[in-house]
Amino acid sequence: MNKESNDEIAFKEDDILPYEKWLAAFRNGSSSEILEGHEFLRQFHATGFYEAYDIVASFAEKSQVEILWFLEKRECGHPYVNSNYPELESLCTYCNGFFSYRDSIPCPYSQCSSIFCSKICLQDHIALKHK
Ligand SMILES: [Zn+2]
Ligand SMILES: [Zn+2]
Repeated sequence: MNKESNDEIAFKEDDILPYEKWLAAFRNGSSSEILEGHEFLRQFHATGFYEAYDIVASFAEKSQVEILWFLEKRECGHPYVNSNYPELESLCTYCNGFFSYRDSIPCPYSQCSSIFCSKICLQDHIALKHK
């Protein structure tokens, strides 16, 4: 399962970029409290390699997991292409709950990189950290 050599992914800037389905494989790091070394797949939507990289990298950083590989789902071949995987999730800074990155609410304070699963968590965070 070595797909790390994807460095020739073409990126045509002139094309109108549609959302494509991507797959990413992660491994829990040693700092993870749940299932160290556990490998798992997530799917998500991105318009291109750079957006996909951003999404995967920020998920890996927030969740303290290692990126094994990520690739457009249609390029993944059998059996990946016909399977469904959980959507990529983010970790809420306030309640530590996982949630879909598409629903994430960033902290409006520019020097703060926190993200939240709900407006309630955001409000509680602001009350706690920024007041
Ligand atoms: Zn939350
Ligand atoms: Zn904040």
